[in-house]
Amino acid sequence: MPKLFVFTGAGASADSRIPTFRDAGGLWDHYRIEDVCDYTTWAHNFEAVHAFYNARRSELATVQPNAAHLMIADWQRRYDTTLMTTNVDDLHERAGSTDVVHLHGYLTEMQCTACGHRWNIGFAPWHLADRCPNPVRTCQSIKCVKPGVVFFNEFAPRYPDLYRAVQSLEPGDCAVVIGASGQVIPMGIELRAAVGTYKILNNLSEDKNPQTGCGIAQFDHYVYKPAAKGVFEIDAILREFFRSGRSS
Ligand SMILES: [Zn+2]
Repeated sequence: MPKLFVFTGAGASADSRIPTFRDAGGLWDHYRIEDVCDYTTWAHNFEAVHAFYNARRSELATVQPNAAHLMIADWQRRYDTTLMTTNVDDLHERAGSTDVVHLHGYLTEMQCTACGHRWNIGFAPWHLADRCPNPVRTCQSIKCVKPGVVFFNEFAPRYPDLYRAVQSLEPGDCAVVIGASGQVIPMGIELRAAVGTYKILNNLSEDKNPQTGCGIAQFDHYVYKPAAKGVFEIDAILREFFRSGRSS
């Protein structure tokens, strides 16, 4: 049975209207976004970092999965699917997807840089005096607890999973990239290694910049629509693809 590889970026969650940093109503006037998501400075900006991510978790509780998340969960039920995302929200999971590889971490998780422990706190705030709850190593660290998202200048431990997944694609498999600009991970370039895999890109509009890797001539089919609409066009292609073993 052919495999389906799905990679999603910010555009997949855009139709769920996750409030952005800039929407936070002046609360962040004193900070640049770089100040609250940089591994080299986060400990120095400890209070701002936690205030920022507390607000993001609280906002996440107010939004819902959109048609793109729901469709992808449906593909996962129908096909042998690997799902990877750079999104840190939990909307794939709430739409019913399982085994989602979050390449940039997970907004509802905390991590301890002292002992390596990771744990889920849902949408709850993290208080500045809270301690690392690692039951095994009784770590109790306060200052080493950071949000469980991958910051700038931080090692992204799941990237090798992405490269392995791309390398495992074979002729006759299908790869779908949704809502990913390619500026962080140039998926068009990464997927060139998957010779013979049928490649579909869904972005809002065409990107001709070859540096971002989603430029023209890297994919077999392009869908330029919001993800929540584009997935219906892709669904029709996948149904035909997996029925006939190749795209029409
Ligand atoms: Zn710890």
